[in-house]
Amino acid sequence: EQGDVHGEVVVLGSGPGGYSAAFRAADLGKKVVLIERSPTLGGVCLNVGCIPSKALLHAAKVITEAEEMGEHGITFTKPKVDLDKLRGWKDSVVGQLTGGLQGLAKARKVTVVNGYGKFSGTNMITVEGDEGITKVSFDQCVIAAGSEPVTLPFVPHDDDRVIDSTGALELTDVPGKLLVLGGGIIGLEMACVYDALGSKVTVVELMDQIIPGADKDIVKPLMTRIEGRYENILLKTKVTDVKAQKNGLKVTFEDEKGENSAAIFDKVLVAVGRKPNGKLVDAEKAGVAVTDRGFIEVDHQQRTNIPHIFAIGDVVGQPMLAHKAVHEGKVAAEVAAGEKRAFDARVIPSVAYTDPEVAWCGLTEAQAKEQGYKVGKGVIPWKASGRALTNGRTEGMTKVIFDTEDDRVIGAAMVGTNAGELIAEAALAIEMGADAIDLGHTIHPHPTLSETINFAAEMYEGTITDLM
Ligand code: FAD
Repeated sequence: EQGDVHGEVVVLGSGPGGYSAAFRAADLGKKVVLIERSPTLGGVCLNVGCIPSKALLHAAKVITEAEEMGEHGITFTKPKVDLDKLRGWKDSVVGQLTGGLQGLAKARKVTVVNGYGKFSGTNMITVEGDEGITKVSFDQCVIAAGSEPVTLPFVPHDDDRVIDSTGALELTDVPGKLLVLGGGIIGLEMACVYDALGSKVTVVELMDQIIPGADKDIVKPLMTRIEGRYENILLKTKVTDVKAQKNGLKVTFEDEKGENSAAIFDKVLVAVGRKPNGKLVDAEKAGVAVTDRGFIEVDHQQRTNIPHIFAIGDVVGQPMLAHKAVHEGKVAAEVAAGEKRAFDARVIPSVAYTDPEVAWCGLTEAQAKEQGYKVGKGVIPWKASGRALTNGRTEGMTKVIFDTEDDRVIGAAMVGTNAGELIAEAALAIEMGADAIDLGHTIHPHPTLSETINFAAEMYEGTITDLM
């Protein structure tokens, strides 16, 4: 059956996964249709994720750096925050990028269909938009429907004092007392923004550490810094109830001993994870299997159980990160265009753009041990880095993890200012199968934080032993 619009490759969802797949397929000569329910392209990442959060984190960093320069002899007056202007700037950054995508789609003759798409057959998606129904038929399809925030049953849903990350990025006000429910990357990034803007922040986390996916030693410098700045950080603590009251949101906590306590907050930011949108697209009408949790399983070529239908990005599983979605999108498009390609990345770096940043890739030390590696490591505290000293920020640390059988790098983790930029070198090292000598004998520019990677390799090799 031919639809109102036909695409050789039809992509459902225009986030980083979807637009990457659409553009690559078009570049490879395919007639492409891109379906998106939002008025702008770019998905969560560009509109309500990676980009607006980083704009606000930049502003937060300027504020805290200015505050801390007092210790080095330069004092500024207290910053005046014009929220409307700050929000406007953040929106303009987002607008530049989403507008740019529109241009890139046009240049590639990618047809954008606006509306909510659902499968209505093995080769058909029915799109419901403002202007009515469009039937989009396809030879091949890429599902890139992404994810949405997890909600909690005991938290009121109709109270504008309860927000998710999207609400936090709207920056409607700066609450006096903010509870961040969830000590993962997204919650901590927003905590960092609101702390800098003047909120009294409490973070509550169920596990025994913040950012539970990373090694404890790497998270510690971040923990120490935010313990000093925030009102409270509650670990091993469960929120069991949130009640809307006139004077605020009354939150009940249960600690590890089962003891309850309560406190009142002006706003609660729920950041307890994201769930895939796999169940919202009627994938079963095309025969595509969706797990109970809403994920769509794929093979190493991003194909679902239905060979002409691919899936990519947050909807196929963890880690839910934009750069993973982009990579998978390109793989799916190339396979759809008949190229020999598969997803075979060894590492997908993770970064918390908090202050300090936390970044890791490959195996964590805990994972390497669990997996039975003979683990060796080089650990460099940033007190030994001239650059960290000149930046006035020495709390960081670089750890490179090696397999002592062949001295190859199997993991790396960093915490400190700009750790997110530094981790790329470790990712390349692991992808290239680099060993301690490769990292230790590569001349790194001085004075940079990147030298700490070089030192870590030398420390592991034993060519340097003392740093200070
Ligand atoms: P999405 O970006 O979720 O896009 C899916 C798109 O599909 C959406 O536009 C949606 O409207 C559309 N869609 C869904 N269903 C339909 C339908 N039925 N019909 C039509 N359209 C549909 N990742 C990083 O790597 N770095 C970061 O710094 C980072 N920061 C983040 C900060 C926040 C606050 C959040 C929430 C996320 C962040 N992420 C970050 C995660 C990142 O945003 C996601 O991993 C990424 O957007 C996933 O891309 P995707 O293409 O799979 O899907």
